[in-house]
Amino acid sequence: MQAALSLAADGLKPVIVERSGAVGGKLRDWHRLFPTMTPAQEVLEEMAGRLEHAGVEVMLHTEVEGIGSKGVTLAEGKTLDAAAVIVASGFDIFDARLKEEYGYHVYDNVYTTVDIERMLNKGHVALHDGSAPRRIAFVHCVGSRDEKVNQRHCSKVCCITGVKQAMEMRELFPEAEIYNFYMDIRMFGPGYEELYQQAQQESGINFIRGRVSEASPTIDGRIQIKAEDTLVGRPMKMTVDMLVLIVGMKAAGGNERLAASCKGVTLAPSGFVAPKDMFAGSVETGAPGVFTAGAATAPKTIGESIAEGAMAAEKVVEYLKKAK
Ligand code: SF4
Repeated sequence: MQAALSLAADGLKPVIVERSGAVGGKLRDWHRLFPTMTPAQEVLEEMAGRLEHAGVEVMLHTEVEGIGSKGVTLAEGKTLDAAAVIVASGFDIFDARLKEEYGYHVYDNVYTTVDIERMLNKGHVALHDGSAPRRIAFVHCVGSRDEKVNQRHCSKVCCITGVKQAMEMRELFPEAEIYNFYMDIRMFGPGYEELYQQAQQESGINFIRGRVSEASPTIDGRIQIKAEDTLVGRPMKMTVDMLVLIVGMKAAGGNERLAASCKGVTLAPSGFVAPKDMFAGSVETGAPGVFTAGAATAPKTIGESIAEGAMAAEKVVEYLKKAK
């Protein structure tokens, strides 16, 4: 959206090709954004309003098959002519069912952070039977930093998401005990470390360094988790009412098809699109005229994705000037 806005401001005619029925991507499902707790809807409405005002053409329900020499190939063999392409295809959410040991979609009351965002958006967070949880555990790094599921990268934004959601749970359930199980806490962004401190000191969230190895149901409908507290080197068990899996960002499923269609576009071992170089060419690919923005190349925050959108547009303008 930002790339299109910047291109339109430069007098060009961007077209957004969107597979779903609305622009905004995953932001449409999020409730409040870390670390400021800004409502996601506010950011979305502002961007969508600016797009409309700029008269940017948006093709909804339209799937891109690949990138050709004249633009993009759409389903049914149609082509959309374009002098340059910005790949802003984002990421997929790790499917928590692949971590069978946590029982997602098998046991009641095992959720992902994405489920929690949706529940927060609906204004109703509760256990399966409608009651309030008394003890909640968050598990960090589900589907990230995990060779077993072929996801070796750190998804970057999920530590702070876990902190944010734990604090939101504290607001909703003042009496609940809340635990976050982590391998390391990665607070890389401005205001993140401060929020983490606040979660511990003001919201009373318990952070335990340890990996949860398995979850199993108890006879009374609760969930027992096994973990090792790696700070004291002791295995531990805990029974909780709600287990929240902090799921990571996975390379978008369509990346392979995209790379196969266009010479010069290559993928990193993680499956994300490889930038031309990590420094001065971070929004360029090895194919002339093909650029990237946002999580197509790696896990990114929303702010970073917006900044990259503007940067990719700038690179397109430069490229078009040179190509004249
Ligand atoms: S950001 Fe935190 S939770 Fe997410 S993968 Fe990295 S270390 Fe794990």
